[in-house]
Amino acid sequence: MNVGVIGTGYVGLVLGAGLAESGNTVICGDVDEGKIALLNRGGIPIYEPGLQDLVDRNRAQGRLQFTTDLGDLVRRSTVIFIAVGTPPQEDGSADLRHVLGVARQIAGDMDGYRLVVVKSTVPVGTCRKVREEIARHTPHPFDVASNPEFLKEGDAVHDMMKPDRIVCGVDTDRARQLLSEVYETFVRTGNPILFMDIQSSEMTKYASNAMLATRISFMNEIAALCDQVGADVDAVRRGMGADPRIGNKFLFAGVGYGGSCFPKDVKALIATGQDHGVPMRILEAVEAVNERQKTLLVRKLDEHLGGRLAGIHVALWGLAFKPNTDDMREAPALVIIQGLLERGATVAAYDPVATENARKVIGIPPGLTYAPGALEAVAGADALMLVTEWGEFRQPDFGLVRERMRGRIVLDGRNIWSGARLRELGFEYLAVGRP
Ligand code: NAD
Repeated sequence: MNVGVIGTGYVGLVLGAGLAESGNTVICGDVDEGKIALLNRGGIPIYEPGLQDLVDRNRAQGRLQFTTDLGDLVRRSTVIFIAVGTPPQEDGSADLRHVLGVARQIAGDMDGYRLVVVKSTVPVGTCRKVREEIARHTPHPFDVASNPEFLKEGDAVHDMMKPDRIVCGVDTDRARQLLSEVYETFVRTGNPILFMDIQSSEMTKYASNAMLATRISFMNEIAALCDQVGADVDAVRRGMGADPRIGNKFLFAGVGYGGSCFPKDVKALIATGQDHGVPMRILEAVEAVNERQKTLLVRKLDEHLGGRLAGIHVALWGLAFKPNTDDMREAPALVIIQGLLERGATVAAYDPVATENARKVIGIPPGLTYAPGALEAVAGADALMLVTEWGEFRQPDFGLVRERMRGRIVLDGRNIWSGARLRELGFEYLAVGRP
């Protein structure tokens, strides 16, 4: 099948490469000329494990192309995915300008039937707006379908090639048939393609992310109480997770959720609730708990030092919002670094891949340096803060870390280290909801 993907970011590039891998001819389009030029030179604009190989292979075999000529893309594709960004506006609602702009553009270039698939995360009712926008600008027949994306950054290629489920909102047989053809090779193992009405499909994406964010904030709130009553949130997590009704995934206390999806999707669902007179009380609390959680490590360190954070030098391990990605959008590290600098501390930060993006977002304010490695970051530090649980931070040589550090404080923002072991080595160990 000839497929076009408009928006070649984290979602669009993985989708385009994955669809090419299964034999489709795919053109990925974007307005960002620098991004397309880089892709055409053989580079990729994001860090995502396994993606470079997938892109290289399919480009070499002629099944994957990149262009800024969206008109050409539209004319050559039967199915066109819209995978552009839907960032939050001031009031939290999703900004649909890019999605609707692309819809208009598709309409202008269509020369026959097209299936337009909205892959971007959009509020209920957006596919209807996309349909109205296209209908205003073309006499040709078309269908609009909703097909939200559930990939996890850091594991996106796997999620694309072996999805847990594929959700498709359709209202015609033709759309259903085309999407079945596009996706049937990805569900050979029996995972479902769930066809449903368009509104339910749009809602499924928000409800899923809202539930995941809720689990995180719930555990962070339980951890705060564990801290006060002397319980260990890790033991509590294991005890809870063994109940199959609860399950053991996504129950980790930490420094709060970030990334390009949970924060904005929770806000957008709250805004949708407001628009329809249904206040989303639980999600308002989820968001409030998360905002406070992002300041936890700085508050803990400040308290531990009796309010004397000024002049303290902190090594910070991990900048990306989670491991295996270079994505800095809404990363808790941003709030943590700002909090430390505001209180007069200095910071040496290290991340295995996100440093360049962090530098673009944060710059190099006075008091912040970027270290080239984990051990360089801890040199002369009074405290070490673990913010992102990259693999290389799981079993560091704490003997060397101790030698390089000036002080002895370790804040484990992801509860990945053994407090008992670190105390044996002479560290003062602080974690999230663990005694
Ligand atoms: P992104 O910012 O990485 O990529 C979006 C791309 O769209 C950019 O390259 C941008 O240049 C391009 N673009 C913007 N306007 C355009 C236009 N008019 N024409 C052509 N290209 C245009 O965003 P992303 O992370 O890939 O997210 C895309 C959508 O998918 C969002 O709605 C997001 O909520 C959703 N989503 C993201 C993830 C994720 O993990 N990143 C997961 C699931 C869903």
